[in-house]
Amino acid sequence: MIHVIGGGLAGSEAALQISRAGLRCVLHEMRPLQQTPAHKTGDLGELVCSNSLKSEQENSAPWLLKEELRRLGSLLMEIAARTRVPAGHALTVDRERFAEEITSAISSDPKIELCREEVQTIPEDGIVIVASGPLTSNALAGEIARLTGAERLFFYDSISPIVEAESIDHSIVFRASRYGKSLDGTEDYLNCPFNREEYERFVDALLSAASVPAHIQEDQVCYFEACLPVEEIARRGRDTLRFGPMKPMGLDDPRTGRRPYAVVQLRQENLRADSYNLVGFQNHMRFPEQKCVFRMIPGLEKAEFLRYGQIHRNTYINAPSLLTPTLQLRTQPSVFFAGQISGVEGYVESIATGLIAGQFAARLASGEELAAFPRETALGSLCSYISGANPAHYQPANISFDLLPKLDEATGRHFRHDKRARHAEICRRALGALARWQPDAVHA
Ligand SMILES: Cc1cc2nc3c(=O)[nH]c(=O)nc-3n(C[C@H](O)[C@H](O)[C@H](O)COP(=O)(O)OP(=O)(O)OC[C@H]3O[C@@H](n4cnc5c(N)ncnc54)[C@H](O)[C@@H]3O)c2cc1C
Repeated sequence: MIHVIGGGLAGSEAALQISRAGLRCVLHEMRPLQQTPAHKTGDLGELVCSNSLKSEQENSAPWLLKEELRRLGSLLMEIAARTRVPAGHALTVDRERFAEEITSAISSDPKIELCREEVQTIPEDGIVIVASGPLTSNALAGEIARLTGAERLFFYDSISPIVEAESIDHSIVFRASRYGKSLDGTEDYLNCPFNREEYERFVDALLSAASVPAHIQEDQVCYFEACLPVEEIARRGRDTLRFGPMKPMGLDDPRTGRRPYAVVQLRQENLRADSYNLVGFQNHMRFPEQKCVFRMIPGLEKAEFLRYGQIHRNTYINAPSLLTPTLQLRTQPSVFFAGQISGVEGYVESIATGLIAGQFAARLASGEELAAFPRETALGSLCSYISGANPAHYQPANISFDLLPKLDEATGRHFRHDKRARHAEICRRALGALARWQPDAVHA
């Protein structure tokens, strides 16, 4: 028997994929008997906040992920298309109809047994997909901690912004590790140096920036000290940042031979080509404010943001130390993780990992060998990031082009002045790889 725990976006897609493969499964959902702090109904696939599944602009990264899902027969993508409401280039759905259609597809499916109960222990028989989401119940979180090791289960996401490498002004930033202590003999960080005036202006801007209203009340008060928002650190005193995430100690600027007044460090993420993370800059500011304020950082005046900072409740595992690229637990391959708890971020990314886990669980149950999705695809890149990123700095990811492999050198050179053409080429390569990998996928 295959058990799917959680009837959210990932679990619903997984259950429907298992049924589509001709197999039976039990879908366990605790709502409406037990609610989460964000869900309002007992419907399956309820969207907890915005009703947007992001851009449908052809050759954008969110489009590519959705296009791959459509080509692989995602049932939630079909329902999204049927319940779409007008919203420019975004795929935006009528949230009630979206969830109602998912609930009805599952309730009327004879191969899916819908069990309204809180799962407290992982079933020991058969194959299990854990898709209990960012607000996994406490009892189940305890069970997952037992299975994975408590230190590999997180309850808060403190995401720092990521900027495109080519938008950084390299005439201002300098490469160095604190006190010259590089991890691998190279200088690990890019450093954005502030003088006193720049620092004071930056602190003023942080203090006056508007925050995002919290989805869940506790988000406002319950910060771990280790993941305080930068604007909160700034509120504790004008110099607090200079002694915290912006401390300049051991970072002399080789061009002046002097230590800057303050520094913002940028770290290249492994498996994220061409992009840098603003270390320790998790924050609660509105996205447009982040763009304005962080462009005041010397060297980031023209920064293009691939992701903005956030802090929110999120239960997720340290996937790179636990999962294979097929989303199975390394120590127990009959257990899959999907959705937000597997270490992705976002509605469509949750649907995507649900589809992958559902299809792979069905193959495993049928005795087939599992092979990871091709690295060139958005799905393969997402799984490669989840299972192969640096576990020491792991942060959940949305799909973006920096997760996909670079173009080969000649092609990259050919398109070097045309970002749009580069992205179109990456999408063409991804869809080609998907078609070769799964020839029976529906092609546009
Ligand atoms: C408050 C909040 C707002 C968000 N807003 C957005 C947004 O606007 N856009 C976006 O792209 N992403 C957003 N996300 C992130 C994420 O994309 C969504 O949370 C998404 O719904 C995750 O899909 P999922 O299937 O992993 O989890 P969910 O959709 O949450 O599904 C998990 C299901 O598991 C059930 N469950 C939990 N524990 C148990 C148990 N022990 N037994 C049985 N069932 C259980 C839950 O009731 C739930 O139905 C938000 C997250 C949160 C927490």
